[in-house]
Amino acid sequence: MGQDFDAIVVGGGTMGTATARSLTERGRSVLLLERFEIGHPKGSSGGPTRIFRVAYHHPDYVRMARRALQEWRDLEGKAGETLLVTTGGLDVGAGGRETAEALEAAGERFEYLKPQAVRERWPALRFEPDAEIFLQEDGGVCMAERTVKAQARLAAEGGARILQNTKVERVTTNGDGVEVNTEGSTYRAPVAVIAAGPWAGDLLSDAGLPSRLVPSFEQVTYFALDEPSPLPTVIDWTVDPVQTPYVVPNPEEPGDFKVALHKSGPAVNPDERSFDPDPDRVARVTDYARGHFAPHRPTGATDTCLYTNTPDEDFVLDRRGPLVIGSPCSGHGFKFTPLVGRILADLATGERPPVPLERFASTRPTLAG
Ligand SMILES: Cc1cc2nc3c(=O)[nH]c(=O)nc-3n(C[C@H](O)[C@H](O)[C@H](O)COP(=O)(O)OP(=O)(O)OC[C@H]3O[C@@H](n4cnc5c(N)ncnc54)[C@H](O)[C@@H]3O)c2cc1C
Repeated sequence: MGQDFDAIVVGGGTMGTATARSLTERGRSVLLLERFEIGHPKGSSGGPTRIFRVAYHHPDYVRMARRALQEWRDLEGKAGETLLVTTGGLDVGAGGRETAEALEAAGERFEYLKPQAVRERWPALRFEPDAEIFLQEDGGVCMAERTVKAQARLAAEGGARILQNTKVERVTTNGDGVEVNTEGSTYRAPVAVIAAGPWAGDLLSDAGLPSRLVPSFEQVTYFALDEPSPLPTVIDWTVDPVQTPYVVPNPEEPGDFKVALHKSGPAVNPDERSFDPDPDRVARVTDYARGHFAPHRPTGATDTCLYTNTPDEDFVLDRRGPLVIGSPCSGHGFKFTPLVGRILADLATGERPPVPLERFASTRPTLAG
């Protein structure tokens, strides 16, 4: 059987476009198939911003984020635009201690600040006078939608064929590799990368690789300071340690910021989900903003978005035969985008990934059954 491409990438969100870019940089012929348009908001990668942080609960992630930061700077150099703006990142509350320990274990720098010192540097922020707060200076903001588009542009410039509004109906494996069917066309390659975000579960099941990926319905609500001043990113463990509030400023729109509650929505079918925000969560983040920011107003916008969750919140980055599985979500994958693109391309080409992947195995016990 003849092969049409060296690799086929299914899904043109941030991970699929990152993978296509990395493959074309290695001189591989690549087909990228996206069921909607590049940059659309129906999956996980839509909207203007995502948090970047090296402050993580486990040293493995801290080290990966440090490595990802290098990859971001390399991506920016190639794209000719700023895609990750460093603002500093705050963790607020005793719930951040595990993260502080992980930073220490990984040899990273961070510093505890008094709320007054926080207020002097970021006058729009308000925390309790006894709040426990640490700052990690590398925290910042990934420009999400621009990243996806820049990666797709670089992949196309590198020779990738990108087909938008082209839904993959089925992926089948055979002795020679994979066959990918869209309406009316069949494409063949020795390897396919499944980077289909919330839709990955069905494609993988059809290909004989059932997974425990559960999409959930998430949302972020936007606000604007009356008197714009710089803001850091914030993760606040004091309010709800599970549905943790987090804050992401938009460095390109001074004074604009969004607030959301991590993993706070119900499981959904990505083809049947609503785009209407949940008013209860809008009220909760509005309340949070009222208590923690200088005078501001809601802009009236709330974006809905999908997480793709694993039971342990670790990613799935693995190769099974001719299929590479790229499901780096559970609501925290974006910051690793260019590193994940390199890893998935490594798995596709048989090169050695730059970080250990054991905790991301598709066969790990938490994903069984
Ligand atoms: C509200 C929200 C806030 C978040 N905040 C952060 C944050 O602050 N920091 C952080 O690091 N991460 C964050 N994340 C997580 C991060 O955004 C995701 O990890 C990342 O976007 C996942 O990208 P993806 O490419 O895997 O998925 P997606 O962006 O969903 O891409 C998958 C693509 O595959 C396409 N596709 C699916 N099925 C098919 C098919 N059959 N044929 C063709 N194409 C197909 C889809 O249309 C889609 O474009 C957040 C996520 C959400 C939803």
